[in-house]
Amino acid sequence: MALVVQKFGGTSVADPQKILAAARKAVARHAAGDRVVVVVSAMGHQTDHLVDLARQITPRPSAREMDMLLSTGEQVSVALFAMATQSLGVEAVSLTGAQIGIRTDSTHTKARIRSISTDHTRKLLDSGAIVIAAGFQGIDQHGNITTLGRGGSDTTAVALAAVLGADLCEIYTDVDGVYTTDPRVLPEARRLPSISYDEMLELASLGAGVMHPRSIEFAKKFGVPVLVRSSFRDVPGTLIVAADRATPRPASGVALAKDEARITIEGVPDQPGSSHALFSRLAASGIAVDMIVQNVGQHGRADISFTVPADDREQALELSAAVARALHAAAVSHDADLAKVSVVGVGMAREQGVAGRMFSALAAEGINVRMITTSEIKISVLVDKTDGPAAVRAVHRAFALDRETVDDLSGGPTASLGRSSPLDVVNRLEGMEDLAIEDCILDASQALVTFIDLPDTPGVAADVFEEVGRAHLFVDMIVQSHPTGGRAELSFTVPAADRDRATTVARKIAAARGGTVADVPHVAKLSITGVGIRSHAGVADRLFKPLADEGINIDLVSTSEVRLNVVVAADQGERSLAVLRQAFGLG
Ligand code: ASP
Ligand code: MG
Repeated sequence: MALVVQKFGGTSVADPQKILAAARKAVARHAAGDRVVVVVSAMGHQTDHLVDLARQITPRPSAREMDMLLSTGEQVSVALFAMATQSLGVEAVSLTGAQIGIRTDSTHTKARIRSISTDHTRKLLDSGAIVIAAGFQGIDQHGNITTLGRGGSDTTAVALAAVLGADLCEIYTDVDGVYTTDPRVLPEARRLPSISYDEMLELASLGAGVMHPRSIEFAKKFGVPVLVRSSFRDVPGTLIVAADRATPRPASGVALAKDEARITIEGVPDQPGSSHALFSRLAASGIAVDMIVQNVGQHGRADISFTVPADDREQALELSAAVARALHAAAVSHDADLAKVSVVGVGMAREQGVAGRMFSALAAEGINVRMITTSEIKISVLVDKTDGPAAVRAVHRAFALDRETVDDLSGGPTASLGRSSPLDVVNRLEGMEDLAIEDCILDASQALVTFIDLPDTPGVAADVFEEVGRAHLFVDMIVQSHPTGGRAELSFTVPAADRDRATTVARKIAAARGGTVADVPHVAKLSITGVGIRSHAGVADRLFKPLADEGINIDLVSTSEVRLNVVVAADQGERSLAVLRQAFGLG
């Protein structure tokens, strides 16, 4: 007998017929002998409608009253869903977030779950009833109703599955599953049979948009298998699971973030504390920084670039200008109208030539790459906004994502696969949604190769990484800074044993293309991994501060959803590791 959580989104319960159809799915599960918890969103566009009502009263409704209002949408749908279930002959009980015991913090309209009690729900399940839980809502310590942020019912569902020890969380929605890219951008996008939590995390916040990213954080932390499937079509869907259960592909998906703005502080004195000064200011203002790229720096000065959603540009620019003045930096530059294209795949670290394939595809389309940053499972590039869709198409094709993927799950995704073990870090968390830093490790085995003054023209990165691929070099980190004065700086790391070969390759390209090459035989790379690195503001700042306090200079930075990497001088590696482990409570 399995325990299954089924979540139905707004479109799946948009009218009484759809509610009855959804209830039949729950009843069928129940009839098969499983224990069933259903989580429901508000009907159709009810939440939008409520937001609109509030706006007609006042342009600035208080957040507490907004939550009081918005939570009614789900209260309506759970009651109707319970009635529907009962009409099909099965006992059902609807519960609000407060009745279940979903405790959140008091951040109205974007509260985070702190704890969930399971007693009441378990008793009802033991009695044979189907429990119908309101998504998206909870209660704070003072008894105020809170909501989790738009789209938050997914998070309720996976969090409930986590605490109840459910074997599977099914997300019923209006799409068939998770696609290799947004099918509205690219009709040849394909449904993925399975994908890992980390890939999904990188894709979700990159604009893949199928699920509330915080729900995937829960799934990963607690090892809950999540199946995304259509409410309306009987197709297999996509199973989101731990990396060791998903198929390792060099690329699983390509994501497009359409509205990015880039800000660069040029000529920052290359000394400890500069990054900290900048990112602590931004974090204090609640600005979520996305890509961060710091180049190696020449003549004692470095450029620090970062991207923010276009909406935050003005504010980020003001703060950056103030920080630049305080640091005696040379200038601040910026541009809007950029798009970020990212390719994600858990198998990419094990394959050579992945970067080459991506950059060649972009070069063949004449697309200029403005900035590059990588993580173990992701390569992101910044391009002109107008190049975004063409870039997605080119990269999607380069990785053959438009071709048939084989359904590779034995027994099909609906088979009960059971849970993976939760991450150790879960035991150390006070609140369920607190930032969870899993580990900080030091890799002292790499060398750094840097191109200085590379011309900023389409195809340069392709030249470099095609050559690197032909030489069968394993590239780890890649960072290309925002070009200044028509010249870019491009760095990558390789195993120290391959340094000579890498430098030879680099010199050859520099001879043909212009620019010079510098290399460092040994560098120290520190990687911090965890869950919530980007969804919690200020993590980058927490990384930079202890290093600044110790007087450790950062040479390169790259960031992603699940990992932060910094490169420092080889002789600073051990000390950096020690201060970072301490700063993140890793003992
Ligand atoms: N009803 C809420 C919303 O529309 C929550 C959800 O649908 O997940 O955002
Ligand atoms: Mg929704």
